[in-house]
Formats: sequence, C-alpha cells, structure tokens
Amino acid sequence: MFRLGHLSGGVHPKSHKNTDALPTVHLDDFKEIHIPMSMHIGPPCTPVIKVGDRVKVGQLIGEAQGPMAVPIHSSVSGQVTAIRKEVSSTGHSVEVVLIESDGQYTWDESICPPVVTDRESFLTALHDSGLVGLGGAGFPTHRKLRIPDGKKAEFLLINAAECEPYITTDFRQCAEHPDEIIAGIMLVMQYLAIPRAMIGIEDNKPLAAKMLKDELAKLASQLNQKPAVSVHLLKTIYPQGAEKMLIHALTGREVPSGGLPIDVGVVMLNVSTVRFIAKHLKTGMPLVRKRLTLDGSGLKTPCNVNVPIGAMIPDVIAHAGGHAAEAGKIIMGSSMMGVAIDRLDVPIIKQNNMILVFDKNEAGLPDESQCIRCGRCVNVCPMHLLPFVLDDGARRKDVAQLKDHHVLDCIECGCCAYVCPAKRYLVQNIRAGKGSVRDRDNKIQ
Ligand code: SF4
Ligand code: SF4
Repeated sequence: MFRLGHLSGGVHPKSHKNTDALPTVHLDDFKEIHIPMSMHIGPPCTPVIKVGDRVKVGQLIGEAQGPMAVPIHSSVSGQVTAIRKEVSSTGHSVEVVLIESDGQYTWDESICPPVVTDRESFLTALHDSGLVGLGGAGFPTHRKLRIPDGKKAEFLLINAAECEPYITTDFRQCAEHPDEIIAGIMLVMQYLAIPRAMIGIEDNKPLAAKMLKDELAKLASQLNQKPAVSVHLLKTIYPQGAEKMLIHALTGREVPSGGLPIDVGVVMLNVSTVRFIAKHLKTGMPLVRKRLTLDGSGLKTPCNVNVPIGAMIPDVIAHAGGHAAEAGKIIMGSSMMGVAIDRLDVPIIKQNNMILVFDKNEAGLPDESQCIRCGRCVNVCPMHLLPFVLDDGARRKDVAQLKDHHVLDCIECGCCAYVCPAKRYLVQNIRAGKGSVRDRDNKIQ
C-alpha cells in the first residue's frame, strides 16, 4: 500500500531546474508556422481554409471531427501558403497548414468571451477553445470534464508537482499567473459542482506554493470566506506528479487497475490547463500559444519561452539563443518520459511542454547487458510491477505473460530503467509490450 503523501518506489534524479528563476520569454518573430491538423488523441481536424486565404490570430482553421477531437485555430495573422502532408515528430504523416506570418498578430475581431451559464455551456466553451490537457497527453479537456452518469466528483486535484528533471513551465505559471490559476480552479469547481480542490506541489518549490497561498488569502478577504481550495506540499520524489501517485498522495485513494480518477471521485487537471480556462472565459482567445522549457547541454541559453503553436523548433531554438554544440540527442518532453526524435524540423504542438537538446557527450546510449535479477527495478516501480518480467515478456511477445503481470498498468515513468545496472532498455520494451497486448485485444473484439 502507498503511504499518504509518499510514493512507494520512485527515484531521485538530479532536478536540473536550471530555468526556474527565469521569467518566460515571449517570442513572436516567426516568418512561417506549420500547424498540424492533429494535436489531440481523436481524429485529425479538417482544414476550413484554403491556400491564399488571409487569417487572423484565433481564427478557426481546422474543424473538429467527432467527440474526441477539438478545433484548431491560427496562432498568427498572415496568409495560408500551403496545406500539405508533413512528417510529424512521431514519424507519422499528418496534414499541416502553413501560414506566412505578417508579424502583426492581429486578432480575429469575432473573438469575444464565451457565454457560459452552466455545465453544458462551460464544456462547449472548452471544446470550442481547442483545449487539450496542457500537461502533455493531448486529451481533450471537455471530454475529461464530462463526468459520467452515476459518478460524482468530490475533489478537483490540480497537478503542479512538476517532478520531472529540467522542466519548469508549471513553476513559472505559478510564479507569473497565480491569480488566473486560482480563478480557473474556482470556475471548474463552480460549473462542475465540485466541492473541494487541492493543489499538489513538490516541496522543492516553496515559492510556487506561497504565490498560490497568497492568492487564496486575497480571494478569502474579497469573498469574506475561505475558498474550499488548499495547497499541499508533497515530498520531492519522481514520479510524484503521475496521476495515480498524486491522487493517492492528496486523497489517500487508489485508482483501481484499469480505472479512471473519477472512479475514486477525482477530477485532475494540470495547473497550466486551469490557468488557460480562466483566460479563455475572460477573453475568448482559443489555445494558440504554448509555454515550454528549452534546456540541455546542446543549447546555449536554457529558458522558458511562450511561442505560437506551429512555430518550427529550429526557429524557436535560434530565437532563444541557439545551439551550444551539435545535437547528439533531442527529446520532446522530459528526460524521464519524453520521446527521442531524430529530427528538429517539426513544429511546436499543443502537447509540447519541453524540448531537451543534449550534446554528443551526453547523448550516448549505453549498451545493455544481461539482467542479473538484482530486483532494483522492482523496488522503484511505483505501480508495484515486475519490470524485468515485463521486459522479458515484451521481448518474446508473450502476451499472456504481459497480461498476467498487468503490463497496461505501467505508466512508463522510466524509474526501472533509471536504476537498472544492466542498462536494460526496459521502458522501450515495456511500451512495445503494451502495444502487443492492445493489438491482441483489438483483434479479439
Ligand atoms: S515498469 Fe513502468 S511503471 Fe514500473 S518503473 Fe518501469 S516504467 Fe515505471
Ligand atoms: S534492475 Fe535491471 S538487472 Fe536488475 S532485475 Fe531489473 S532488469 Fe534485471
């Protein structure tokens, strides 16, 4: 069993929070942006503009197809120069709208705050805003917040743990916009009738906790009553910010295997997501920009930037100071859970929250050797799995073994690979093993 506020398992990687004291830099100088029509887990959007059209910031350019999709909007003003297929960071071919920016960032004049009076109009506004979870999963927020019949949300949990090395976007969000974060939390509680909210922050970020507590105190004096929102400092340990870990740390409840947070009365949102909700309801501006951390030995100037969605990564890096050395490894996402990509010429999308560029010295992948059955991977697995058994099952494509050992419960946190003395490629193999199980299950259905 987990202990309240403390993970069972987990690791302590060096934090490398090199950018936490640096204010976010707003970058606008992009001549051309490439906006993919697929930036959520549902089907891709259909472009509703054509080559030659002039567009403005916030204008709809991709219409959502189906309930798991959200619309896509232009992040610059300018002219559509092409609509074509491009290879994404994951190696898939996706439809992309190219826009030549006029550098003016002229807003679409039809944009105005949405009329929100109840739960349905609130969820419609979130859908229309193009919002997906800004923690990185790309799950449409309006779907996540649609609480199924028969379930009750008792807690709104706000994930500000930011337990991964290097990344500081959520910390900067707390430091720069605590008022909008609290406003967003109050709106979600109001429209979904959730009685209580808790914000979870690792205890190595006391400033973020203080900023949010100060904001809550201000609100209490305005309302003349204490809001039902509390800030909780959690032990600094990776992966404290993983959904199931944070739920247990804050509520003591355990999400069952294969279950969802709402099964234990919880709705969880990332701190950047609630801030966006407050901003959108106030201004009507859809999701067109992204804040992300740039770091790693391959970059001259580690920093946090706020850029238009669709800005190309090489342009972002150039504007943010450029390369310090030839890139040996590029990771989209964090050093523990991110995905290594073999090319930089891809755009920033809604799910991106960090780009790590390492030089050749740091990029080397050690050769793996035989498993020595030391059990270290088992000791650190926060999901109480047997990573070495899953690794073996995945390599042999033994679906029965993988299922027997609950491979789908793996959250791909990377703790097992981090401690493995044999440098086994545990996460890559387990991820492939999860794919084998899903493929088999799909064939049976
Ligand atoms: S098996 Fe999965 S959940 Fe367990 S430590 Fe490895 S990556 Fe994390
Ligand atoms: S940590 Fe590595 S060597 Fe040790 S049991 Fe796990 S997979 Fe085997």
